[in-house]
Amino acid sequence: MIQTQARIKVAIQKNGRLTEHCLELLQQCGLKYSRGRDQLIGYGENMPVDILLVRDDDIPGLVRDDVCDLGICGFNVLEEKRLAFASKGISKPFKLLQKLDYGQCRLAFAYPEGSNLSDASQLNGETIATSYPRIVEDYLKRHKLKASVVEFSGAVEIAPSLGRAQVICDLVSTGATLAANRLVEGETILQSVACLVQTPIDIPPEKTEWVNRLVERIA
Ligand code: ATP
Ligand code: ZN
Repeated sequence: MIQTQARIKVAIQKNGRLTEHCLELLQQCGLKYSRGRDQLIGYGENMPVDILLVRDDDIPGLVRDDVCDLGICGFNVLEEKRLAFASKGISKPFKLLQKLDYGQCRLAFAYPEGSNLSDASQLNGETIATSYPRIVEDYLKRHKLKASVVEFSGAVEIAPSLGRAQVICDLVSTGATLAANRLVEGETILQSVACLVQTPIDIPPEKTEWVNRLVERIA
């Protein structure tokens, strides 16, 4: 392990759809790392770069707080957290460096099969279940719609059958999950892909060479 210089920290998803793609990308950048079973840090052996494995939802905050120099997560998560930071008066919580070529999905409304709802213009007075309440509220505001938003941290697609909401707004890639839950896809409100972000804080000089090198290799 190279320990003479300041080490770069890159946050990626610990266990999920982006994990393998992120690890593969870092390996393609030439990074060799060691990671024990269940360890949340992968230590770079041939570069002063360590990998932090965390929940994707924590990545924007870790980057914004400069705990990590770089992070990779879905644009959907970045946008939801950006709106949350903005509501607290914090602008530019991270620098979006690059969209990557994996993690493609869309955030879309979906309506129960046979429902009298099939279009976002009909959402006035309805309740929408989603894991992305700020993005949905922002959409409603921009389209001058008055609907309630109820937050689900997962399994959003069961909300209509529970009677908790008439409509959902959830991530879709193939549409198979929607179909299995008898939901019909509607308008897309956000297109997403995995993105590389950097802390908004200036990178200290002892780290810039490796941050730049890594960013260039990812590009
Ligand atoms: P964590 O435990 O890290 O919070 P999670 O359940 O929020 O995990 P995953 O389901 O692993 O997250 O999805 C991670 C990211 O993968 C999403 O935020 C999104 O950017 C992307 N993604 C691509 N396709 C899909 C899809 N069909 N459904 C959900 N996410 C998708
Ligand atoms: Zn998550």
